Amino acid sequence: MTVVTAKNPVRCFDAFRWEGTDLLAYKEEGSAPFKAITRQTLFRDPAIKCELRYFELAPGGYSTLERHEHMHAVLILRGRGECLIGDTVYKIDTNDLVTIEPWTWHQFRANADVPLGFLCMVNVDRDKPVLPNGEQREALTTDPRIAAFLKD
Ligand code: MN
Repeated sequence: MTVVTAKNPVRCFDAFRWEGTDLLAYKEEGSAPFKAITRQTLFRDPAIKCELRYFELAPGGYSTLERHEHMHAVLILRGRGECLIGDTVYKIDTNDLVTIEPWTWHQFRANADVPLGFLCMVNVDRDKPVLPNGEQREALTTDPRIAAFLKD
């Protein structure tokens, strides 16, 4: 996988690491519930007003259950897992595309035996994610499929 831009040639030296790109924590520790995720920002230019990030969840890892005004456009690049979008749990596999509409609850989870890596496009300027309160979480988990998905 080689990525070249006119301004700043970048060579990928490993399939899921990009040279000149920091491997970052998903979020600040303790700011929200999540497990075993890294983040790399691949593109961020105010001229295009969006960012392209690569997130990788280790086996059994998960992103924060959240929602917000801004949208996500996601391409699964590696592995398998499941995601909750709104009130539906989907199985996701490499090359699947996932669109997350404004104010839709969402969470990604890697399967127990494989990592889950995906590209996620967002606006540069975006609102802060909101976490479910107790009542909202309870409403979600009345569905046994969602309760099983949110097990830990
Ligand atoms: Mn989000």
